[in-house]
Amino acid sequence: MIPIARPYVTQEDAQAAYDTILSGWITQGPKVEAFEEKFAAYTGAKYAVAVSCCTAALHLSLIVAGIGPGDEVICPSMSYIATANAIRYVGALPVFAEVDAASFNLSLMDVQKRITARTKAILLVHQLGMPADIDSFQALCAKHGLVLIEDAACAAGSAYKGKKIGSHSQLVCFSFHPRKVLSTGDGGMITTSQEEYYLRLKRLRQHGMSVSDRVRHQASHLVFEDHTELGYNYRLTDIQAAIGIGQLEKLDWMIAERRKIASCYQEAFQEIACLQLPREEAGYYSNYQSYALSLGADCPLSRNDIMQQLLDKGIASRRGVMTAHRETAYGDYYPDLHLPISEKASDQSLILPLFVGMSNEEIGQVIEAIKQILSGPL
Ligand SMILES: *Cc1c(COP(=O)(O)O)cnc(C)c1O
Repeated sequence: MIPIARPYVTQEDAQAAYDTILSGWITQGPKVEAFEEKFAAYTGAKYAVAVSCCTAALHLSLIVAGIGPGDEVICPSMSYIATANAIRYVGALPVFAEVDAASFNLSLMDVQKRITARTKAILLVHQLGMPADIDSFQALCAKHGLVLIEDAACAAGSAYKGKKIGSHSQLVCFSFHPRKVLSTGDGGMITTSQEEYYLRLKRLRQHGMSVSDRVRHQASHLVFEDHTELGYNYRLTDIQAAIGIGQLEKLDWMIAERRKIASCYQEAFQEIACLQLPREEAGYYSNYQSYALSLGADCPLSRNDIMQQLLDKGIASRRGVMTAHRETAYGDYYPDLHLPISEKASDQSLILPLFVGMSNEEIGQVIEAIKQILSGPL
């Protein structure tokens, strides 16, 4: 069986976790601080704040951006549901916009049409690791006085116009879930270059506490903490951070390996007319968190038939990115919303296996299977 993904965690990563467990610091402490410094340096952002997951990163980003009840935040429906959920956590309304039919990233034109007097922010997703056009959205936000928050859950190590994702905007949120490229089991990070955001994010992730455990631990005079506002327990642990540091050191290499596999797929599938392949325009650099194929109208088989036939051949695949507005938790709120491009993109796409350590034989098996399946019924 060829799995859809497999986290690349090494003996060294396991050893780092083991050493940390025995170090006396197992929750947020010096390893988290070191991971944050290295992540900030890697992305080119001034600061990074580690949290328990990307959903927590999005939640805290919306809070520091001042988003609350009565506000509207524009985001794609075609994204993992956490994107929209985070907006609801702060009592704001997710306003779903269409994606572009070629890149599956947010459509600037469609977003423009949905801006109202209540719009406060745009939550821009880098779909499956492929950067969105950040410059255009920054310009749009500047024009309308909106905050731009990037959902870069899938985009650690991706780059836009020569700079790593994380360095362009003031609130950029990353995920370290095992389905992403860099994994700590679970985990997340927010990058920013604004000191005010940085300091407040650090308090909010730890119950709103004014002094961190580490500062109290190292103090030679008594230090008493205050809880300055309603906070959360969104801490990353030092055990996870120890894994993250080793993962970050390997990130560029892991991405290079992923891109080799993606280019094998690109080369093999370009001759199949009914398939729409991922497109990486000049200035865009994807970490290929996932490789999705989209089926054209002339495809001889349904998406689900293709997925079943792949499974019959021992190859896992996944549906394309979901749409939030058609999920039960959202359907009642958006009974009349139709987003034809997003719905079609979601229904007519599938994700193929792609992971570091995938053998040439496995890559070949996937390619042969797709070719066979799509030529079979003719
Ligand atoms: C995975 C993902 C999230 C959620 O990340 P967690 O770390 O699991 O909270 C949010 N947004 C997008 C686009 C994702 O792919």
